[in-house]
This record gives sequence, structure tokens and C-alpha cells, in this order.
Amino acid sequence: MTLVSINSTVAYFSMEICLEQAVPTYSGGLGVLAGDTLRSAADLGVPMVGITLLHRKGYFEQHLDAAGAQTEQPVTWQPDEILDLLPVSAIVQIEGRPVRVRAWRYIIRGVSGHEVPVFLLDTAVPENTPWDQTLTDYLYGGDSHYRLCQEVVLGMGGAAILRALGYNGELHYHLNEGHSALLTLCLLEWQLDGRARFELDEGDLDAVRRRVVFTTHTPVPAGHDKFPIDMVRHVLGADQVGVLESAKCIDEGTLNLTHLALRLSRFVNGVAMKHREVSQGMFPRYPINSITNGVHASTWTSPAFQSLFDRRIPEWRADNYYLRYAIGVPLQEIRQAHADAKHVLLDEIKARSGTELDPKVFTIGFARRATPYKRADLVISNPERLLQIADAIGPIQIVFGGKAHPHDVGGKELVRRIHEASLKLADAVKIVYVENYEMEIAAKMVAGVDLWLNNPMKPLEASGTSGMKAALNGVPSLSVLDGWWIEGHIEGVTGWSIGTSSAEGDQSKDASDLFLKLERVILPLFYGLPFAYAEVMRSAIALNGSFFNTQRMVEQYVRNAYFPAASMVEETVA
Ligand SMILES: *Cc1c(COP(=O)(O)O)cnc(C)c1O
Repeated sequence: MTLVSINSTVAYFSMEICLEQAVPTYSGGLGVLAGDTLRSAADLGVPMVGITLLHRKGYFEQHLDAAGAQTEQPVTWQPDEILDLLPVSAIVQIEGRPVRVRAWRYIIRGVSGHEVPVFLLDTAVPENTPWDQTLTDYLYGGDSHYRLCQEVVLGMGGAAILRALGYNGELHYHLNEGHSALLTLCLLEWQLDGRARFELDEGDLDAVRRRVVFTTHTPVPAGHDKFPIDMVRHVLGADQVGVLESAKCIDEGTLNLTHLALRLSRFVNGVAMKHREVSQGMFPRYPINSITNGVHASTWTSPAFQSLFDRRIPEWRADNYYLRYAIGVPLQEIRQAHADAKHVLLDEIKARSGTELDPKVFTIGFARRATPYKRADLVISNPERLLQIADAIGPIQIVFGGKAHPHDVGGKELVRRIHEASLKLADAVKIVYVENYEMEIAAKMVAGVDLWLNNPMKPLEASGTSGMKAALNGVPSLSVLDGWWIEGHIEGVTGWSIGTSSAEGDQSKDASDLFLKLERVILPLFYGLPFAYAEVMRSAIALNGSFFNTQRMVEQYVRNAYFPAASMVEETVA
């Protein structure tokens, strides 16, 4: 493999990147994916750097009061205890003011020592106005004007910082979601190099496109940033809006960052095969490719399974494809590693909430951003039915987690309803809502439950990744056939489906299907045929852990997006 000899660097731009628990610069799936991508790039020796914002006040810390109402607190952390402040800075223009941007560095070291630096941009510099100093404080906080200014810092400030750091040559840019698309405005200006903007032609646009790859992440229209042109003119100034207009990147009085990214990228992809199809329908004018998401294998594998894999398939860390050979690991060892991971989770839950769960009881896990389309409450939508199943077949306990965005009223209502159900079901079906779902508790949850549940409304799940983390730990999924599960699901082999692949999401049908699968298939297997259940666990690792990881994913980005075969030959020969 020629990965290391490719003599150009990929700059990976993302509004959020999950680096480690102590660095609160992410809110959920997008940030975890970004961190996992960079960790795998480091493992593979891909020349890559990450760019994000410092997020001095983080996302937020979630607490639930006695009634299950979510309250939020800013996170405080000390960047200088973890990051290195670099002796470079750059200037971006916001509302006609020069705003100085500086950068902190975090280094990710791969399995064989290759380093991927991540640059976290920071405007809290005394020479900036007090308001400009807040621009790198809150992740997804503030109003849309604040967001636009942040996106100027991320896209344009990021490009300028990379120049200041000396990355002048063969940079390729990967926009992880549209938030950083203003980077392309910077590239257009560099391409103009002082010429008048009306001289921009298709050749110039192509020169920019040759450098840019774009990954779109959500089929939910509200997930795509749009700004009215008056606001854009106020923030960027008439000249820069003129450049965007000359490049035909303003539609009907709106700057849509997804459209900007689509227009100025040479390769665009969705994050699962189905998501490609849905995105192609949303953006018929652009060819959309598919590269299915993954997770960083060693980050999301519990210590118990890490040591089992180290013993049985030691190659797995450097090359995740070896996880295929988990199929030969004795079932008793799978069961033992899982029992260890389950103890770790139950101990953590007891320490956090005081609730004691029973290690012998079938435990369902559900955790993701609390927002209505993910339907966290589906499994508690019919408490009588759940009780009846538990009585007839065997006891059930459920662990929930996930933050609602502070403005997401429906999401907060979901959390409250689950809390209410936990009081109502009390000891009959124990339910715990784990507060402040973050990287460390997520790793314990995906490894320590017996079944990972996922039931979003179709087709709104772009990919989903927590089920992939569960698979690495031998935890099968029960999920609607959307996102990655369409690809990862083999009924009764890697887990189970709710509903069929063709049907549209239907709340009551999905709920009855979910209960039916638990009652007729999953619980009887778990309680009646534990070694058959362990076989499903083992196949989840061998078939899905070996594929739905970011090592395979980054290799696909390298081959299909960054350095497609022809240019790879050129670049390695040159
Ligand atoms: C993996 C992860 C997510 C994303 O999970 P999805 O299944 O993709 O929704 C969100 N938050 C945390 C803390 C995670 O670890």
C-alpha cells in the first residue's frame, strides 16, 4: 500500500471533533465520526490534519431534575492543560472588522506512531472585540448570525491558519458537513489572485474543485445551514458576496452552505448506501457517491474485548480486517468478555445513579441525541405490552442516554417521558436514564448491554454509528432498516430488524414489530439458548466489526475521494 508515500496532505474540516473525554469539542455523531476518522488516518499513516473550533465553553453538561426535565450548564475546561498554543495567527474579516484567529494543537498518534495534528481555532485574543472573542466559545449555541460568523472563522480562518503554518503545497480539503463550506470562498479568492471577480470562469471553479471533497450527513432539511443574503452581505462584505455571486453560489437571495459545497467539490458523498440515494433525490444536479461510516475500532472496543482480541487475533489493532477471524473465537470466551463489560457498565450506573441493575437480566441499550425522529420512547410506548413480555418470557431492563439540544422542545419532552415511564414501571422493568451522555459512558453502554436498540423514523437516519460500536463488542442490534443497518443486518445472524426495508416508517406498526421481535425471537434466545445468542454476538463482531470501522472507511476515502487510482499513480511516480 502506498498511503505513506502520497506527498500531499488532506485538511479535514469539521465544526466538531471528538478527541477525548476531557476535550468537550463535540455534541454527538458528527464529532465522534470526525475524531474516529482522524484516529484511523493516524493508524494508516494517511497525511492528514484536522481543523475545528476550540469551543471554550463546550457543548453543554446535561442534568435531569427530579421530574426528568433537562437542565444545561456550560462546560468549563482549560485548553492550556491539554493543547499547545501555536505561535501563528491569521486574520479574517467579519462585518468589516479584522478578527484575529489563533490555533491550538492536539496530536493524535496512530498505532505505529504516525501523527495527525488537529488545529483548534480560537478568537479569544485581547485585540479582538469582546463579542468577537466569544465566536469560538459555544458549539451550536447562539443565533444564526453567530453561527455564520463562526463558520467564517472555521472555513476562512482555517484555510488562512493552514497557510500561516506553512501548508502551502498540495493541500486537499475535506468538508465534513457544510459548516466549513466558506473555505471554498477563500480558495476562490486565492484562485483569482487579485484579478477582478467577473473574470472567474469555469476553469477557475474547476481548479478549486480539484482540491475539495464534501461529505453530506443529514437527510433532514433543517440540518442544512442557510443564511439570508442581507445577513451574508453584512458579515462578509459586498466584495466577497460578489465573488460568491460570480461563482453562482447564491440561490434566490440565500446562501445555502450545502449548495456551496456541492457546487465547488469534485467528489460528494453520503454516509451509507441508502443515504446516497436519499441525498441524490435531494440534490439531483450533482452526482452523489457513497462511503459508509465506521467507528475507530480500538477506541470503541471495551477493555475486556480488547484483551480477548489481543490474545486471539493480535493483528486486529493494526488491521481491523482481522476481526473477521473472531468467527473462530470460542463462544465461552465471547460470553466471558461480555459479562466483564456488563459488570463495568452496571457498576458505573450504580455509581452515577444509585440504581442497581441485575447482571443476569436482559439489558437493552438506547442512546443517541434526544430528538423526536429518533423516537427514544418507542420501546416504552406500550408499557403494558412490555410488562406482559417480561412476565411471560424473562425480565427486561433498559438503559437510556442522550442529550436534547437546548432549543429542542420535542427532544426534552422525550427525555421527560422516559423518566416518567421509569417511575411508572419501577421495579417491573427497571429503566435508567444516564445523564450527560458522552464518550466514556457511551463506550461502556455500547459494550455492556445485551441488545442495542435503534428505531428512528425512516428514512431520516443518514447512517448511525453507535450500533457499529456495539457490534465491535459483540452486542447485536435490533433496528429499523435505515442507514447503516440496511447494510449490516442479516436477520438472526448479526442482529434483528424492526419492519421491512421497503415500508415507510409507521409508528404503531414499528412498535408492534419491536415488541413481537422481543417476545418471539430475541428474549427466548437470550434466556433459552444462551450459546445460540452468543453465536449472534460473535457474528456481529466478525461480519460487522471487521467492516463498519473507520479504517476501512478512510481507505475508501483515500482510494475513491482523495487520491483516486489515476492520480495516485501520478503522485507516487512523481
Ligand atoms: C457514537 C456516539 C454518538 C452517535 O451515535 P449515533 O448512533 O450515530 O447516533 C453520539 N454521542 C456519543 C457520545 C457517541 O459516542
